[in-house]
Amino acid sequence: MLDQTSFVVDGLMVEGPDGARLCASVCDGCGTVYFPRPVSCRNPECSSKALQDRLLEGRGTLYSFTIQRYQPPALFRIDNWAPYALGLVELPEGIRVMGMLSGFDLDTIRIGERVKLVSECLFTDPERGRVMTYKFAPDISGRAPR
Ligand SMILES: [Zn+2]
Repeated sequence: MLDQTSFVVDGLMVEGPDGARLCASVCDGCGTVYFPRPVSCRNPECSSKALQDRLLEGRGTLYSFTIQRYQPPALFRIDNWAPYALGLVELPEGIRVMGMLSGFDLDTIRIGERVKLVSECLFTDPERGRVMTYKFAPDISGRAPR
């Protein structure tokens, strides 16, 4: 096994000194925030299409969720599959991002919980090593206002 890691999709996230962050874009003209990053602004009323890269806040609030109780079909690769929660998380930038939840008891997840971004291994591959993705985990430090 190679001693390396990669992300499941290039350019999706970075692992920085203050933790995992999602790579987004913000439009110069209308301020719309996009994740994942599109080629240009999709706002039909926007005359500027120029996007700047921006790292999103690593913390947010669980807006909604569902429990995935069957194994997703091929193309989606995951080692040691077990039922998991898929969350829709509202970030301070005003966008909602979908991602797997990690570290929750599936029977006690509640909308409105504070979550933080983490990176975890999705599967290991002989050529790519540990292939990482982002997930949202309970934010224990998030109980107090930032
Ligand atoms: Zn725009």
